[in-house]
Order: sequence, then structure tokens, then C-alpha cells
Amino acid sequence: MKTAPGDKPTILIVDDVPSNIQVLAEALRAEYRVMVAGSGKMAFEIIARKGLPDLILLDVMMPGMDGYAVCRRLKENPLTQGVPVIFVTAKTDPEDEEQGLRLGAVDYIGKPFHLPIVLVRVRNHINLKLKSDLLETYAWLDALTNIPNRRRFDESFVIEWKRAQRTGLPLSLIVLDIDYFKPFNDHHGHGAGDICLCHVATTLAASVTRSGDLVARYGGEEFVALLPNTGEAGALQIAERLRGQIEALRMPHGYSPASAWVTVSAGLASTVPQADESPDRLFEKADQQLYGAKQAGRNRVCR
Ligand SMILES: [Mg+2]
Repeated sequence: MKTAPGDKPTILIVDDVPSNIQVLAEALRAEYRVMVAGSGKMAFEIIARKGLPDLILLDVMMPGMDGYAVCRRLKENPLTQGVPVIFVTAKTDPEDEEQGLRLGAVDYIGKPFHLPIVLVRVRNHINLKLKSDLLETYAWLDALTNIPNRRRFDESFVIEWKRAQRTGLPLSLIVLDIDYFKPFNDHHGHGAGDICLCHVATTLAASVTRSGDLVARYGGEEFVALLPNTGEAGALQIAERLRGQIEALRMPHGYSPASAWVTVSAGLASTVPQADESPDRLFEKADQQLYGAKQAGRNRVCR
């Protein structure tokens, strides 16, 4: 779970002694959303039910799974390993602290604790966590257009490809390219070129709204739409809609033999991926169709 700006960050307190939980929870509630668990097992149940917290305050000595075991399991799972863990424990030997930090905890606080120090440490680690979430978000976005970038597409393409191999459902890919973008840039200037890219990107992204679908900027003036559970007929409808919506923006293009407006050409390919196939082949097919659309006069969809 990513904490949206303005939302209170979420902290999970795990301790087998209710009075310990109470002291921490009361102090943290003003600034954070607080979830509590009386055991390691319960902590995983809460995470499964309510999503990932931004920080976990974790006791060590607990019946059943102890805090070290909880931390180990959190750090082993790619889905939970990014959640920072702070041990809060009466086990204060240097060896214990070393073990906790080696397991991947970001901090180690001894009991009895001085509450104001706990609060400051929590705040410091929450700030780092929110910054790292933000960086992760940026890593998947195209810096100019603010829609998903090629990295995000490459990752999703492989995931959806494997999913389609498992389910036997079709997967479609549309590759789109702005027509005569180089002359547009050369004559209208790069500033206008950037504005054009942003309008096209935003329009494409807003036009594909089914969950699971993904529109990304592939590079330069090239965009892709990845459409899981979609066969050729459905993908063709979507591609035609995208093409039509870009034309309907009526962005003047003074140097396009294809139209008075900015237009896009699109190539589409669909498949039910077989076990021995690689996603590159689908991309090549869509790209060939895009080439065909360019050859046939642009501002059109080829399949
Ligand atoms: Mg305990």
C-alpha cells in the first residue's frame, strides 16, 4: 500500500503485552494510522487483510513466532521486504541488537524506552520511507509526459505475457507513433513538440481506462498500449478510438502531408501466447503493422 500525499502514514505495532501496545499506540495516533497485533501470526494476518504498513514496530520476545522470525519472514518476501522494521525490545545486549539489525531492521530501541525518542526515530524512518516510495513512483513514470515509461511497460509486458500463457486468454499490443513528428519539431520548435507529446500521452492514457490495461511512452514519439484479455477485434476498436481521439484534438500540424492536424499511426497484434513463445515476437508483429500503417498513408490502424 502506497500512502498518498495527505494520508496519514500507517504503523503496525506488534507486541504480546497489551499495555506496551497501548502506550505506543496512544502516542502515535495523533500523527499516524495505527494497526496493532498481539503476535507474529496476527501481524501477517493483518498485513494480508489491510495491506502493507509504512513502518512496523516489532517486539522480540513473543510466544510462538518471535520478533526475529517475523522480521526474517518479512525480509524474505519481495512483497513485504520494503517495509521498514524497528525492533522495540527488552533484549538489549549488543549481540541481540546486532542480530536484529543484521536481519534487516532499520533501528533497534531498548525497553524501557524514552517515548519522545521513539517518536523522533519513528518520524525519521517514516520520512525516509515516504521519500523512497516517491522515488519508486518516479522510476516508473516518463519524466516529460507523466504517464508510465518504457521500464514500466517492459515489466508489465512480461508479467501479462506469463499470465496469458497460464490462463490461455489473448493478449493484444498496440504500437502508436505520431505522424511526421520530426517536421513538427523542426518547424514548430521543440517546446511545441514537448507540448504535443504531453497532449498525445495524456489523451491516450485517459482513453484506456479498463483496469489491467496500460498505456506507456515507449520512447521519442512512440507509445504502446498493452491490453490483457483482449482479442484482435477488441484491440482494433481500442486502436481506432485512440487514433480518432488524437485526430479530434485538432492540434495544428503545418508540415504533415497526412493531415492538417497532429495524427497517429498504429500497428496492432494479438496472440494467445504459447509456452515456447517470447513476447518480443508480439512486439515485432505490432511494429511491422505500424510500419504498414505508415506506408499506407499514416493516420490509420493496421493489423
Ligand atoms: Mg514481548
